[in-house]
Amino acid sequence: MNNVSNLNTITTALQATQASIAEAVTKADRVQNSVKLIAVSKAQPASALREAFVAGQIAFGENYLQEAIDKQQELANLAIEWHFIGPIQSNKTQAIAQHFAWVHGVDRLKIAQRLNDARSGKTPLQVCIQVNVSNEDSKGGVLPDEVPALAEAIHHLPNLTLRGLMTIPEPTNNIELQHQQFRILHRLLKQLNQQGFALDTLSMGMSNDYAAAIAEGATMVRIGSAIFGVRPQRSIIN
Ligand SMILES: *Cc1c(COP(=O)(O)O)cnc(C)c1O
Repeated sequence: MNNVSNLNTITTALQATQASIAEAVTKADRVQNSVKLIAVSKAQPASALREAFVAGQIAFGENYLQEAIDKQQELANLAIEWHFIGPIQSNKTQAIAQHFAWVHGVDRLKIAQRLNDARSGKTPLQVCIQVNVSNEDSKGGVLPDEVPALAEAIHHLPNLTLRGLMTIPEPTNNIELQHQQFRILHRLLKQLNQQGFALDTLSMGMSNDYAAAIAEGATMVRIGSAIFGVRPQRSIIN
């Protein structure tokens, strides 16, 4: 199979993305390396992840469980840190808790409890609460008002470590609106920490809006198409 030019494209795009993140960090007067890049590899073949890993990328984000498990088996010899960033169905919690280091989209207590039950005997699962900052019905996430109670409940689950908040805002090219939405999440994290939590993670920013997210305090950006190009059509439903 001839995919050498493809592979070079991934390495080049990854380096360009890293440079652009560093630039946004500098522009925001933030400490270098304070933003971690999660390479979102959903719908990409294992060969694409391997190339990014060889180029230095460690953390990968996947949305679809079965697709992710297949790639994990194929790439088992690589020390990848796996992040589950997709919507979580309750019948998938067992496998998600077993196969990932991080879960970004926790949006109800029942899911948190099931992840906790399935994680016993291992290091705690690192989790973020997904927050709906756009008041859209279609997107997952709890409303800002509901976050403190859910955070408190998750805090008591021994096999989960609550690290912070995650959001997928309404997509928009309006830069000011991007900033406003990310600012809501940052403000919420500060409030929780004032109430006694010690949360260090703001998972926000994708290919189209990560500069704004970094300016507003993102500590993790989840970037797919800017690294891997336009996603191939998915053929598997899981
Ligand atoms: C697909 C996806 C991303 C990456 O999106 P791009 O626009 O390709 O960068 C980030 N976060 C989540 C939750 C996603 O589903």
